[in-house]
Amino acid sequence: MTGADNHAHIKHLSFRTQAFINGQYVSTVSGETFECISPLNGQPLTSISACDTQDVDLAVTAARAAFEQGTWSHRPPAERKAILLSFAHLVAQHATELALLETIDMGKPISMSKEEDMDGVVQTIAWYAEACDKIYDEVAPATPHSVGLITREPLGVIAAVVPWNYPLLMAAWKFAPALAAGNSVIVKPAEQSPLTCLRVAELAAQAGIPDGVFQVLPGYGETAGQALGRHMDVDMVTFTGSTEIGKRFLCYAGESNMKHVSLECGGKTPNIIFADAPDLDAAAYDAGMAIFHNSGQVCSASSRLLIEESIHDTFLSAVQKVCDDMVPADPLDPDTTMGSMVDKNQMERVLSYIETGTQQGAELICGGKQVRQNTGGYFIEPTIFDRVTNDMRIAQEEIFGPVLSTLAFKNPEDAIQIANNTNYGLQASVWTRDINKAHKVARQLRAGSVNINNTDGGDISMPFGGYKQSGIGRDLSLHAYDKYTQLKSIYIELS
Ligand code: NAD
Repeated sequence: MTGADNHAHIKHLSFRTQAFINGQYVSTVSGETFECISPLNGQPLTSISACDTQDVDLAVTAARAAFEQGTWSHRPPAERKAILLSFAHLVAQHATELALLETIDMGKPISMSKEEDMDGVVQTIAWYAEACDKIYDEVAPATPHSVGLITREPLGVIAAVVPWNYPLLMAAWKFAPALAAGNSVIVKPAEQSPLTCLRVAELAAQAGIPDGVFQVLPGYGETAGQALGRHMDVDMVTFTGSTEIGKRFLCYAGESNMKHVSLECGGKTPNIIFADAPDLDAAAYDAGMAIFHNSGQVCSASSRLLIEESIHDTFLSAVQKVCDDMVPADPLDPDTTMGSMVDKNQMERVLSYIETGTQQGAELICGGKQVRQNTGGYFIEPTIFDRVTNDMRIAQEEIFGPVLSTLAFKNPEDAIQIANNTNYGLQASVWTRDINKAHKVARQLRAGSVNINNTDGGDISMPFGGYKQSGIGRDLSLHAYDKYTQLKSIYIELS
């Protein structure tokens, strides 16, 4: 479809605006709503129900009842698999509509909403669906006179509190393994981007997921998010978002029922370029894409570029070319590679970091401004700072925008020291053709994932998550399935 087709199409989109509780869309008890604004033009799209503690209570009661009745939790795994596969199929059938919703709600380019987000959601649901009936429990090497069974059981009621940068995909990374394991799930989308999560709720029901097992509560973090975090009958919160709010969930759990807490938080990914990288042009292209993709609103974005001193100037010029080619444009145009920031607040936050970078003495070598103001939307051009030192705020704090901080290093030890000198530890990249150096550096980097000679590696079969203040626990892979279960030991004495 062309950009014009997409503009025509969005006029006919209908929005699901109410909470999805116990198998149906319902208004909030209070009747409160909030405005959903499109970052493409700053105009309101619709009003969305603003859930609070009363709605959270209703959803948790329905989730618990479904869990106890066993309509999902006790269903044979092969049946759960079939239903989840049909859910994945329905999402695939509605991928165009969902991608359009994601783009107008969040601002990312339509090609990305389709090929990265919706394809990723379908793949994630299908992957965990397939896992349902292929995971065995364990028999312990206890005594010859006993049988020691170690079984996994679903935890119960899971609250998934998710961010706005990949609204449906981040939710799917949570709800797919949690549902596959037999739990009831309540998703709380970010207030900036609730449309796709609300829409898929009815697709889940249509696929056969029973009432109360998959629910969606839109609302503010302070109200709906906090009420889930503090609820005495929620067994686990699985969160993706900022480190600051992640820490609050640890407090909520400690002050309520000691629920499990899994946190995927911020990052400040170092991308280390050695002079002996196998292909410096490819590395430069990748270095640009790794920060400007999704306008830098990616937790694992390579926001710190560490370049070996001997190639600093030539390498940086090559990255600058990528920056020049990435021009923010109409997100509904299929050729657009860079969209808008999610909202006005995020745009202003990023612009203020750019100002701080200049004030603290870094050299702005390209970008730095808001563009496309005439649209009313929130677009920022790709931005590169050189001569950044690791003590500057732009080197230490997560900007979550298209802003690259460049630092020079002398040798591997120096690179490792700079890379690890941050509170975060989500991801890192190393570019070298020396396999020994690659391994040695990778092992010393304090990060949950290390990519060698790429920046966007990883696979659904590999865990994703952070060291240090980037989080606790992992998404993706069968390790994520495990975290939505608890172990029970059953010891049978043989007579
Ligand atoms: P955020 O922390 O502000 O919000 C995340 C979610 O928490 C939202 O649903 C929000 O409504 C809710 N929330 C906000 N305040 C709350 C409170 N006081 N109590 C309970 N819930 C509350 O994050 P964001 O701005 O939506 O997303 C950006 C952040 O997400 C970045 O820091 C980014 O690094 C992180 N992120 C991490 C990963 C990862 O996998 N590590 C992936 C994507 C995004």
